[in-house]
Amino acid sequence: MSNPSILILPGDGIGPEVMAEVRKIIDWFGTQGTTFDVSEDLVGGAAYDKHGTPLHDDTMARAQEVDAVLLGAVGGPKYDDLDFSVKPERGLLRLRKEMDLYANLRPAQCFDALADFSSLKKDVVAGLDIMIVRELTSGIYFGEPRGIIHEGNERVGINTQRYTESEIDRVARSAFELARRRGNKVCSMEKANVMESGILWREVVQKVHDEDYPDVELSHMYADAGAMQLCRWPKQFDVIVTDNLFGDLLSDAAAMLTGSLGMLPSASLGAPMANGRPKALYEPVHGSAPDIAGQGKANPIACILSFAMALRYSFDMGEDATRLERAVEKVLADGLRTADLMGPEGGTPVSTSEMGDAVLAA
Ligand code: ATP
Ligand code: MG
Repeated sequence: MSNPSILILPGDGIGPEVMAEVRKIIDWFGTQGTTFDVSEDLVGGAAYDKHGTPLHDDTMARAQEVDAVLLGAVGGPKYDDLDFSVKPERGLLRLRKEMDLYANLRPAQCFDALADFSSLKKDVVAGLDIMIVRELTSGIYFGEPRGIIHEGNERVGINTQRYTESEIDRVARSAFELARRRGNKVCSMEKANVMESGILWREVVQKVHDEDYPDVELSHMYADAGAMQLCRWPKQFDVIVTDNLFGDLLSDAAAMLTGSLGMLPSASLGAPMANGRPKALYEPVHGSAPDIAGQGKANPIACILSFAMALRYSFDMGEDATRLERAVEKVLADGLRTADLMGPEGGTPVSTSEMGDAVLAA
């Protein structure tokens, strides 16, 4: 059997810095008998500088072949004035679109050592471990018609929320599959009280549940009430599945329950490939952070935890994923902090590579 394959796209800004720490962990696995076939390539501004495009066709083709893509971050002030069609972000959008990554997984997990960091009371967030599944390739961000039109004397801005049954069906399945590996509970959020797409969403999610996942506990909530419950008592949830727009908002809100942007991983999954594993791209939630790039200050944990997600969802290495997450937990409990995790009481932050080394040692 061939080795599991990974395409690494470090990208711009702190992307290469945090990815270097993941490289150390991948190399360590090699010494333990699990060798990944790793290839590395350019994306975003880095690709634009070399090829005049934020994603070369060869890179795109490679992304379609590998078991998992790991991406750092794209963009930066240097590219602000570029034409829209070659902006660094377009590289990432093309990957998502052509790989058809329709399920965006955003965990919100609170490490005990950082529970004081949340804006919420400690008992509300301590031990929090929820997963938001956001539909990523359809809905109001893509629906037609769209545009700004003239109507009489004024202009009208139009976007269309549109979901097909099959689009809802497949993302619902992702959520139920995920729930079975976690707390076995799914809460589906929409606005079935005021939106036709919400009515269909609720109906299809319920049908998928009744036919194929009756063992998973399913509830439905209006997304506005869900937002409120998420802030009031987030631990009531396990997996939340929702559409592109609501998921955009709810996942950002959920993420901030737990503290720093430097801690948050994500996965974007598509349809199963021939080997049964989903097409997959893993990336930290944070951006290229140009304000701290090149200074060794970036927190590599979001990127490391994204690799842990890859171990779990692309390589069936759930135990190793848990080990890696425990290692992160341990270094935090030991008091190690990158600058973004320093509270008002201050202290001496560790560098990106010191944090990476400590996680590896743990
Ligand atoms: P994008 O448009 O790509 O999302 P952004 O400007 O919205 O970028 P980031 O680039 O993520 O957001 O940066 C937001 C802030 O968070 C910055 O001040 C940045 O320094 C900080 N930050 C982001 N990621 C990290 C990290 N891994 N470690 C430390 N600080 C970070
Ligand atoms: Mg941003």
